[in-house]
Amino acid sequence: MRRNPLDYVIAGADVGHRSSLASEVTSMADEQEPVRRLHTVDRAQSLLRPVVVEELIAEDHPARAIWEFVGQLDLSPYVEQVRSLEGAAGRPAFEPRLLISLWVYSYSRGVSLAREIERLCGHDPAYQWLTGMESISAHTLSDFRVRHREALEELFVQVLGLLSAEGLITLERVMQDGTRVRASAAPSGFRTRARIKGCLKQARQLVAELRALADEELTLRMRRARKRAAHERQERLTAALKQFDELKAAKSRVERVSTTDPEARIMKQADGGSAPSYNVQLTTDAAHGLVVGVDVVQSGSDYRQLTPAVDRLEQQVGSAPAQVVVDGGYISSRNIVAMADRGIELIGPGPTDRAADANRTNAYRHHGVQPEYQVEKFRYEAATDTFVCPQGKQLRYDAKYEISGAMRYRYKASQAECDACPAKQFCCPRSRRGRSIERVEPLPAIAAFRARMQSDEARAIYRTRSQVAEFPNLWLKEKLRLRQFRVRRLAKVRMEALWAVLTYNIQQWIRLRWRPQWLASQAPA
Ligand code: SF4
Repeated sequence: MRRNPLDYVIAGADVGHRSSLASEVTSMADEQEPVRRLHTVDRAQSLLRPVVVEELIAEDHPARAIWEFVGQLDLSPYVEQVRSLEGAAGRPAFEPRLLISLWVYSYSRGVSLAREIERLCGHDPAYQWLTGMESISAHTLSDFRVRHREALEELFVQVLGLLSAEGLITLERVMQDGTRVRASAAPSGFRTRARIKGCLKQARQLVAELRALADEELTLRMRRARKRAAHERQERLTAALKQFDELKAAKSRVERVSTTDPEARIMKQADGGSAPSYNVQLTTDAAHGLVVGVDVVQSGSDYRQLTPAVDRLEQQVGSAPAQVVVDGGYISSRNIVAMADRGIELIGPGPTDRAADANRTNAYRHHGVQPEYQVEKFRYEAATDTFVCPQGKQLRYDAKYEISGAMRYRYKASQAECDACPAKQFCCPRSRRGRSIERVEPLPAIAAFRARMQSDEARAIYRTRSQVAEFPNLWLKEKLRLRQFRVRRLAKVRMEALWAVLTYNIQQWIRLRWRPQWLASQAPA
């Protein structure tokens, strides 16, 4: 620690002289110690500084790439919906290119709240560059995100066209996968039909009471806010009741519906729990990992989503993929046959016979059939198209039918022979018509699929599935932070999913095309 010179002097002086000596030395020290000059901060001042908007962000900033990409698109479907007209009263509308770029850039940064974007437009250089330092209200942004469904779908198709033209989409091999994204609803908000009816009655009463409320009791703003909230609640509850009718028509066993987002469904999550969610279906082109199809469904299972996904792809891109790779959730006899009918090669885990074997074992136990008299113990004779039972009696062809992608041929023994048989109690103790068994022949499409999945080539392709198909799922959840939808109801949720996928595709275009081209342009000639 640095000591005062006075301390050294006082230590060696007489006490009587200390006071005068101290004051003398202090004045000497004051004279010697320089006064430091410090620059202090003045936050009370106001400054006007020039801002060169163009220089707010670097030349290779992603906001520039997004602006450039969106500039290549035909945005006339959006422009046609602008109500502000030249020569008429009112402010001009913000150009669609700006609002699209703002949303895409925001999603790319994991920002999906309109209020947050409004705030960022006030100070973030990239947002300021995009808006040209103008402020945009959260209301405008929020409306734009969910209002133009058809225009957004057309935009997505246009983006696919651009990416195809650049050779980034080939449709030679696509991968279908689903991921569950949480809905904007709490599990505790799910109610039975009777409970929702009661809530709706209360909500209607509240709306009536607010209508009758004397004007002077509340300010105009408070009155409007309360009426809006009451109307919205009434609408949500009415929609929830309507969902019960739809569920009944679909023969669903769901007994509770959310009063917050009536179209969300409780689905199992990857962590083992369950939560109100939507199932986001993505079709990914294997060439560069770009998403060529997206949909959001209310069903937690995937196996009904394959055919609609292929149909959607044909409709949007104009051609079907040559090969589709899926996981076990999509494998069913119906899907295998449907893909074969369309001339599409399906790659997936081969169907196992384990479930069929377990069912058959249970059926044997139920009917009291002993192991020595199970179907494997009956001998087939192709020449006569008959079976011979362990007691040497013939079972003749009786009928055929198609179940689960296989043709089933039924053979029956003579009732009289079975009734007289000493082994009846082990073979068919509960049958009054004699023993019957089935010969199962898989449909050609199923047999071809099974044979294909035995090959090393098909297995090698299947091993690449998780790497390609799950990459966009992870990207949406981790980079774009789409772990929960910000909007409610299926139609709006579909739009949010479309915005996220649009962003993902543009980000991949930046990575695959824009940035390499920019780097090449910067290289010395
Ligand atoms: S019960 Fe009928 S089918 Fe079974 S072993 Fe006897 S004769 Fe054959």
